[in-house]
Amino acid sequence: MAREHHPVSRKLISPAALKVLYTLNEAGYSAYLVGGGVRDILAGIEPKDFDVATDAHPEQVRELFRSCRLVGRRFVIAHVRFGREVIEVTTFRGALTDSHERDETGRILSDNVYGSDICADALRRDFTVNGLYYDIADYSLLDYVGGIQDMQARAIRLIGDAELRYREDPVRMLRAVRIANKLQFHMTPETREPIPRLASLLCEVPPARLFDEVLKLLQCRDAVANFQGLVETGLLAELFPGLHACIDEPGVRPLIDAALANTARRIANDQPVTPAFLFATLLWPVVSRLAARHEAEEDMPPAVALGTAADRVLGEQVERVAIPKRFSAPAREIWMMQGRFAFRRGKRAERLMGHPRFRAAYDFYCLRAQAGEADPEIAQWWTEAQSSQDAPPPAPADAAGPPRRRRRRRRRSGGGNGAGDSEQ
Ligand code: ATP
Ligand code: MG
Repeated sequence: MAREHHPVSRKLISPAALKVLYTLNEAGYSAYLVGGGVRDILAGIEPKDFDVATDAHPEQVRELFRSCRLVGRRFVIAHVRFGREVIEVTTFRGALTDSHERDETGRILSDNVYGSDICADALRRDFTVNGLYYDIADYSLLDYVGGIQDMQARAIRLIGDAELRYREDPVRMLRAVRIANKLQFHMTPETREPIPRLASLLCEVPPARLFDEVLKLLQCRDAVANFQGLVETGLLAELFPGLHACIDEPGVRPLIDAALANTARRIANDQPVTPAFLFATLLWPVVSRLAARHEAEEDMPPAVALGTAADRVLGEQVERVAIPKRFSAPAREIWMMQGRFAFRRGKRAERLMGHPRFRAAYDFYCLRAQAGEADPEIAQWWTEAQSSQDAPPPAPADAAGPPRRRRRRRRRSGGGNGAGDSEQ
């Protein structure tokens, strides 16, 4: 499709991506903008990043750019960096042949055959709307897979046989949910139908890759719709089996949806978000239920029960979705602090406010209050305590927290309206 017939204009492409395209082209290689960049421009959305396809091999790409790093073991990709922007440059993939190693479920294990043919590369992409190429040589749009028609029909359609393509790479099921929601397109019946049936193939995917995909799904503006998509398709059961098992219990969905809506709002407002908070939310229903069982059945004190449950749930979860320690450790702290909000007197309240994780734990407490599982009056008290730090609100009579159930008797620290002592 010639330039005058499509809306992809250089004005909508980042200077960094244009630089990569022109540099490759001037060095004698073909260079195309492809994937989400083209798709989003056609859909009238600002692209998140730009991907480039070329017939240059990764080492040849590296020779052209000072700030180029080759990544990936199975299929080497060049990352060209301009400040904070990274342009992903992929060499054309060759057609799939018997020389591609697969596991017994059909998943492709080795994918290191480069091609020189753009059409073969197009057929290796996932959805038709992701298989459109903008040629920097003459600004035309190339479509070998019916992507333009599907853009117009607002359809997400896997290229080729859907079941085969999901088996090759089960992550495509997650991408289908995410991209359909991002564009507000619908999946075609052939693309949607196999997902519940094949969802269990996700267990073959390395947990570190699933961690990245979970963030893309649930730390974005479409987080609530994406979560709903995971529930409906059965994909949630594979990613978060514990959460899936209690998702219909009272209060669970409201908590998750409130957290995801909150995340989406923060992202829309350019406020920071952390995976620690996301995973704290997703796993809390599982952790809190298990902790309650430990308390009831094994007579564990609440803090011990919670710690034991947290360790077990995190230990099981990372086998599916690899949550790095730098996120799971703060998530655990957020959980462990929840019981401490009931104490609004004396040194205990003071120490809680001084805790480095106070803000996240407080946000989480508020979320639980909003979802009906924590006391909104307590949440309100802590909100006021922070805004009037010189003179925190008086603690009500029961602010010393819930009655202790252990024999161990401790003298209450401080006494009186200790919360007023806060030096925060
Ligand atoms: P976004 O960047 O908005 O998340 P995207 O479609 O650009 O969406 P990327 O992960 O950047 O996603 O991938 C770039 C392109 O690479 C895709 O548009 C698609 O053509 C191809 N691609 C990515 N992942 C796969 C996959 N699992 N199987 C086949 N092709 C893929
Ligand atoms: Mg992209």
